[in-house]
Amino acid sequence: MIKKTLILFSVLLIFSCNFLEDKSEKMAKEKAIERIEREKVTEKLNEPTKPEETEFYEPVPPIVNPTGQNGVPSDAIVLFDGANFDSWEHSKDGRSVEWFLGDEAMTVKDKSGDIQTKQKFGSVQLHIEWRSPKEVQRKGQNRGNSGVFLQGRYEVQVLDNNENDTYVNGQVGSIYKQSVPLAKASVPSGEWNSYDIIYHAPEFNDKDEKIKSGTITVLHNNVLIQDHFEIKGTTEYKGWPKNKPHGKAPIRLQDHGDNSRVSYRNIWVRELE
Ligand code: MG
Repeated sequence: MIKKTLILFSVLLIFSCNFLEDKSEKMAKEKAIERIEREKVTEKLNEPTKPEETEFYEPVPPIVNPTGQNGVPSDAIVLFDGANFDSWEHSKDGRSVEWFLGDEAMTVKDKSGDIQTKQKFGSVQLHIEWRSPKEVQRKGQNRGNSGVFLQGRYEVQVLDNNENDTYVNGQVGSIYKQSVPLAKASVPSGEWNSYDIIYHAPEFNDKDEKIKSGTITVLHNNVLIQDHFEIKGTTEYKGWPKNKPHGKAPIRLQDHGDNSRVSYRNIWVRELE
C-alpha cells in the first residue's frame, strides 16, 4: 500500500513540475512579446513629427571641385598626367622608371619590370586609363596583359580580351583568379579604357590575423564590373590567396614581360581615410 502511494506521489510530483515549467516558460514568452509590443508602441510614440527633427547640420562635407585640376578633382593626388615619372619608381629596387613616355601617356617597356607609386596608400578611390595596342599579337593571357595592383598585392586585371577568350577569372576586369567581372565592357583594341576603383584595405589585429577583408568596386568605362567584392587575399598565379598583415603600400602597374605594350594615362587617386 505504501509503495503504491509513493509511486502515485512521484507521478503527481513529476506532472506538477512539468506543468510549472511549461507555465513559467509560457509566461516568459508572453512577457517577451509584451515587451516587444511595448517597444513598438514607444517607437511609434517617439517618431518625429516635424521635418526639422530628422535634419542635421554636422559634419559639413568638404567642398571638392570635380574639375579643379585640369579635369581632376581638386582634392585628388595626381599620380600621372603625362608629363613625367616623378611619382613612380621601379617596384623591385626603387630605381628610375624605364617605361616609355610620350603622347601624354606611359607605355610598358618590355621586361623592364613593374613600376609603383613612391607614395604608399591605404583605402582609395583610383582613376586610371589604359590602352592595349591596336596591332594585336599573341592570344589569351599574352595579349595586352598588364594589371593594377592595389597596395601592390591585389590585381585588377588589364587585358585585351577582344575576340580573345581566356579563363573568366583572369579576363579583363577580373580580380585576378578571385572574381569574375559582372560584364566585359572593353572598347576596341587601340582605344582608351577607364577604370574607376573604390578600394577599402583589409584590416589586421595585433596577432597578425585578418579581421576585415579588403573590398573592391570597379567601373570599367562607367560600367559596374566588380560590386564591393570581398578580396580573399593576395593575387597568386599559383596556389591560394595569402593574408599576411600589411600597412599602407604603393599602387603597382604590371610589366607582363611578353611585349604586351600596354599604355596608361590620367592616373589620380583620392585617399579614403
Ligand atoms: Mg595582369
